[in-house]
Amino acid sequence: MSEVSRRGFLKFAGAAGIGSVIGSKVLAGSTSSTSSPQTDSNEPNGLKEQSIQPLELPKRKLGKTGVEIPCLALGVAFNAVDNQIILRKAIDLGVTSWDTSSMYENGNSELGIGKFIEKKPDVRKKLFLMTKASFAKNVEDVEKHLQASMGRMKTDYIDLYFGVHGLSSPAQLNDEMKKWAEKAKERKAIKYFGFSTHANVAGCLMGASKLDWIDAVMPIYNFRVMQNQKLVDAVQACYDAGIGIIAMKTQAQKVESDNDKKLMEHFSAKGFTEGQAKLKFVLDDKRVTAACVGRENTEHLRQNVAAALDKKKLTQLDKEVLENYAAETCSGYCAGCANICDSVAAGVPVSDIMRYLMYYNSFGDTQTARQLFADIPQQTRDKILTVDYSAAESRCPQRLPVARLMSQAIRTLA
Ligand code: SF4
Repeated sequence: MSEVSRRGFLKFAGAAGIGSVIGSKVLAGSTSSTSSPQTDSNEPNGLKEQSIQPLELPKRKLGKTGVEIPCLALGVAFNAVDNQIILRKAIDLGVTSWDTSSMYENGNSELGIGKFIEKKPDVRKKLFLMTKASFAKNVEDVEKHLQASMGRMKTDYIDLYFGVHGLSSPAQLNDEMKKWAEKAKERKAIKYFGFSTHANVAGCLMGASKLDWIDAVMPIYNFRVMQNQKLVDAVQACYDAGIGIIAMKTQAQKVESDNDKKLMEHFSAKGFTEGQAKLKFVLDDKRVTAACVGRENTEHLRQNVAAALDKKKLTQLDKEVLENYAAETCSGYCAGCANICDSVAAGVPVSDIMRYLMYYNSFGDTQTARQLFADIPQQTRDKILTVDYSAAESRCPQRLPVARLMSQAIRTLA
């Protein structure tokens, strides 16, 4: 694809029309007029349909497992029972790795995937399904969650099972869990085992890198948190240990400010959206197997596919623009370094509550946010407004107004 066409391709993707173009061409398959010459229009809107090639998403190896999966995964953190079209479009666009959890949308994410597989059983072998044992407290719980997830998704195996959803300490990766993972693989209920983590991420990844039975991890990975050298080192340690890395929260929490305008203008001039730039930041790191992006609408999915297909890397200047934006807006973003604030908050799980606020404020997922908040023991919730958060605020590297945000959590989530 020529540079001009490439720019047009991405910019058009960032506007409204490219998605349908990609979709229609992929759906059209090899019988479409893909051999038509590309247009060389300088105007994005002048990009003609025939300039879009129906490319396959690049695949990457999931660490030492050797299995190859598309570099873009779909986060199915929505009600897929009522939104089957996004699953169909994902298949059409080559996004065949899907990530869900036993808790997303009260099980309606997994039930929607099951509904889809039931209607099209042949699709199962194309899919790489990932799910998580949310809220499991021990291996018996993990087993129950696995069985329930397989039942909801109408499948007799899970490709990658995150036996811990939201690991916050490597100590949870104990011998009991190891034995369970090995047995589950032996009986072919799961192919690979790992965990997701959004708190003490660097510590969890570093711990995992020393274990030979962790196949893959799903950490927060975005242009904000990757400014932290400890996390950079931990990602490298996992990569060196042959652990596959599925990046989540790749877009980072959006912080509404004048800086957003600057960021958008910079990337818009290059022909792509802010979201595409953030995704490219993740995909530029070849240690990352796949970037998981949750999308409920097909237009965003198409924009992500366009970014994943685009071979051009971000320039040093682009990375600096993201880095500066991260520094300038960090006071609105919780980095999930739970070991810092949780240890001085008298038992209040500050970092978890920050994450629930993010689900509520930035992702609009009010139901999940409230459900997670309700799962905090009543005794702990009662303490939230009584704790002195000044130590947490002074230690917080993101300079977050912890006390104010805890009261906001009580107002909006309780
Ligand atoms: S509140 Fe601050 S210290 Fe606590 S997890 Fe978030 S960024 Fe880290």
